Amino acid sequence: MEDQKIYIVGAGIAGLIAALELEKAGFCPIILEATEKEGGRMKTDAQEGFLMDHGFQVLNTAYPEAKKYLDFQALNLKTFDPGAVIFDGKDSFIITDPMRNPLKVVSMAFSKVGTFLDKVKMFTLTQELKKKSNEEIFNSPSIPTHQYLKNFGFSDLIIDNFFKPFFRGIFLEKHLNTSSRMFEFVFKMFALGHAAIPEKGMGEIPKMIRRQLSKTQIYFNSPVREIQGNVIELENGDKLEADRIIIAVQPDRVMKQLQGQFASPRQVINLYFSLQKSLLARPMIGLLTGDRLVNNIVFMDDVSKAYAENGRSLLSVTVLESKLGEKELIKAVQDELEEISGVKSEYFKFVKAFPIAYALPHVDDLKYAIPFTECKITDQVYLAGDYLLNASINAGMTSGRIAAEAVIHSYMPTH
Ligand SMILES: Cc1cc2nc3c(=O)[nH]c(=O)nc-3n(C[C@H](O)[C@H](O)[C@H](O)COP(=O)(O)OP(=O)(O)OC[C@H]3O[C@@H](n4cnc5c(N)ncnc54)[C@H](O)[C@@H]3O)c2cc1C
Repeated sequence: MEDQKIYIVGAGIAGLIAALELEKAGFCPIILEATEKEGGRMKTDAQEGFLMDHGFQVLNTAYPEAKKYLDFQALNLKTFDPGAVIFDGKDSFIITDPMRNPLKVVSMAFSKVGTFLDKVKMFTLTQELKKKSNEEIFNSPSIPTHQYLKNFGFSDLIIDNFFKPFFRGIFLEKHLNTSSRMFEFVFKMFALGHAAIPEKGMGEIPKMIRRQLSKTQIYFNSPVREIQGNVIELENGDKLEADRIIIAVQPDRVMKQLQGQFASPRQVINLYFSLQKSLLARPMIGLLTGDRLVNNIVFMDDVSKAYAENGRSLLSVTVLESKLGEKELIKAVQDELEEISGVKSEYFKFVKAFPIAYALPHVDDLKYAIPFTECKITDQVYLAGDYLLNASINAGMTSGRIAAEAVIHSYMPTH
């Protein structure tokens, strides 16, 4: 097994988990990674005393695969308070725990985002989804989320003031066209678990997996140009012959024949601003209602102090769509922040922007998992990555594990 040349393309969470599972079975895989660091879409930069994730994202503590592969205590996970602070332009108010304990949400506060019937419906949905397995959720009929919410009987008030800003920030699309399967899965995860970030940033998650690897070689700055049969051609022209290949990146990037076969991914722009102090002083996500540039905001140091160790506060701002150049965008965001908070725009000091062209894959037929036979393209080539299942850390991990199982199975004597 040790002499088998098993290459994995991509050191994102899917590629790293595939390597971990292959090691457990006695293999010594080799990862080829285009960038200088592991983690793919989960990376954190340290700069000017701030920690900045490449795009605002959270780990849900109820993710089954995350529970399996991560040591939450060692990550020193910092959890968000469930619920959200809603900014409607005129006012701001807190909705605590609408997806776990909707009936306990103070009626006065809830009345601004929904009706009493919405509260009861939230409760019913929470109970229903807690009983539904993840497999059942992903085998349910798929309709656009906006339609699902209507069909379930939610009022326009709660759809506009809570569901839209909350799920736009997760699906990274404005109209909630994403499948109801993903909605049910995410809702269930929030009903069971907490949104959390590792104390020192999301990049700690892939780092933790990498530390568990002892027999895997990782070659950084080694982009793959093309895969043909069992031959991998690197951008520098080197050719590598493989016994098995796991492509842990959307495969059209390395297989010319698949180019144009995948729908455009979801994009996002994440901007960081620093302030003297947090305006919320509470580990909560802030949601902006209406048709604004900014979808959601979080004062990262309210969640984990380590995100700002220079005596300032770090504000993460998520913008879903904008055609503005960087300068104009920064100004427009600062103006919106002033509008919703009353704090003068110049107090929001711009730190850095992360325009992310490939944030989430567009997956038509969302799945929780697939049989390992389905990730095999040829006897030598196997697929992994969130795009195979659904856009989440949990799916990235699942897909890596399944691809490794398929490779391991291909060496079994009965095969
Ligand atoms: C802004 C944002 C917010 C998100 N929010 C959440 C959230 O709140 N919760 C959640 O669960 N998920 C969230 N996600 C999704 C989650 O981050 C991904 O599902 C997960 O990281 C996917 O991992 P992956 O290994 O499949 O892919 P990737 O992380 O994309 O890994 C692919 C790897 O392959 C490398 N690569 C690419 N091309 C080549 C090549 N030619 N040769 C060699 N290497 C190559 C890349 O550099 C990368 O390291 C978010 C993602 C983003 C960007």
